[in-house]
Order: sequence, then C-alpha cells, then structure tokens
Amino acid sequence: MNLTPERAAEIRPGVLRPDWSAVTTSAARETLRGRMAARSGLLDKWSHALEASEDIVWRTVLHLYAAKGRPPTINGIAATTGMGASRVAALLRELQLRDLVGLEAGSDAIWLAYPFTERATGHRVELNGHSLNALCAIDALGVAAMYGTDVMVTSQCRSCGETIRVMTADAGRTLQSVSHPRAGVWYDFAYADSAASSCCPAIAFFCSDAHLQRWLDSQAIRPMGARLNLDEALEVGHAIFGPVLREPAPAVA
Ligand SMILES: [Zn+2]
Repeated sequence: MNLTPERAAEIRPGVLRPDWSAVTTSAARETLRGRMAARSGLLDKWSHALEASEDIVWRTVLHLYAAKGRPPTINGIAATTGMGASRVAALLRELQLRDLVGLEAGSDAIWLAYPFTERATGHRVELNGHSLNALCAIDALGVAAMYGTDVMVTSQCRSCGETIRVMTADAGRTLQSVSHPRAGVWYDFAYADSAASSCCPAIAFFCSDAHLQRWLDSQAIRPMGARLNLDEALEVGHAIFGPVLREPAPAVA
C-alpha cells in the first residue's frame, strides 16, 4: 500500500494537476513520477494556484483556440472576458512566466498555449472541424480529455516517417483505433526554461517498439524518459490535460 500522496499542483480550488485518478497503469504512474522528479522546475511554476483573473484568461485562451482553430487576439480575449486589452496583455505575460502560453517576441501575439502551437510539429489534432498542431505526442493525446470530446491524432513515426493515426473514444478515456497496433510514445523528461523548447521536441510517436529502440540507439546522448504503449500514453495525456479546463469546486458555505 502506498500511503504517500502523489504530488500534484492545485491549479484552482479543488482541481489537481496531474489528475492521478486518471492513472490505472503502473507505466503511466511511473512516468508521471519520473516527470515530477526530473522537472521540479515545472512543478515550482505551477506550485501556487493562478490568480482568478489569470485563470480566466488562461481558460478563455484555450476555449477560443479550440473554437476558432487558431490562437485568439488580445482584443478577442478582452471582448470575451470584459477585461481591458492592456490588462489582458499583462495577464498573458504572467501566464508566459508560468510556461502556460508563449508570446511572440516584440508583440503580444500568442503562438502557443499548451497543448496547441502555431509552429508545425508534425502532430495534428482534428478538433471541432479544425486541424491544430499539438506541441508533442502527449499533448496531442490529452486534447480529447481536456475538451471532453473525441479527436483524431495524426503524426509520423519519428524513426521511419510512417503516418500514425489514433482515434479516441469515451471523451478521451480510451482508444477507438490505432493504425499501428504496436505503436508507442517516447516520453522525454528533459526540462529547461519551457516544455516547448526542451522536452516537447523529443516526445514523439513510433510505429513499433523496435523503431523506438532504433531511435534511442541513434541519439548521441541517451535521453532520460519512459517508453509507453498508446493506452499508457493516453492515460498520461489525460492526467496532465484533463484538469486544465475543469471548473473549480464550489466553495463550502
Ligand atoms: Zn516506424
């Protein structure tokens, strides 16, 4: 019996990230533990809950991004939230310090809001009739649970380039279909400055364990991370992204 509570950040009242209740496999559990241990900097950035206004802007960015298929403008966020544009801009910069959004240097244009990015990554997610870029394989697999809907993810084997398609079911809790039955994901633990610039580029799909191994063997420096089958990778994505848009628990009277 494990009496140690798993580490998580309370991102808003009663909402814990990651959501350990989404984790049933030991591989997913060990991966999340390894991620926490290797990325203490990330947990520090999330360690205190967002201010209410920061949280509203963060969630508004993610709702509008999914609804429109592109990042919202500051004016769009201002119109939706009723906040002034300069306040929204200041709050976005706060969210950037937490590694939750990314802004173009020299402008306040949003180019990333995990799990989505405007950069081509090779990981495409079909959501609400839009095709969006996800930062990495786990971000792509987390989209369905985050929005409470099902998605199709299209990516390539990082080793051979073959197209891999994954369809989710049960609002992202299970897999509907996978083009390659032995496909897997490498979950990289590296973290420095931001996920987008450190771990994300190495978190990728592979058509088989043999191709994952071939890629690992080809790396000049052995990466630190975990190999997951797609069921396990879906659980990790669900645990990390499922809580992001969850409503706060009602205050106790
Ligand atoms: Zn392959």
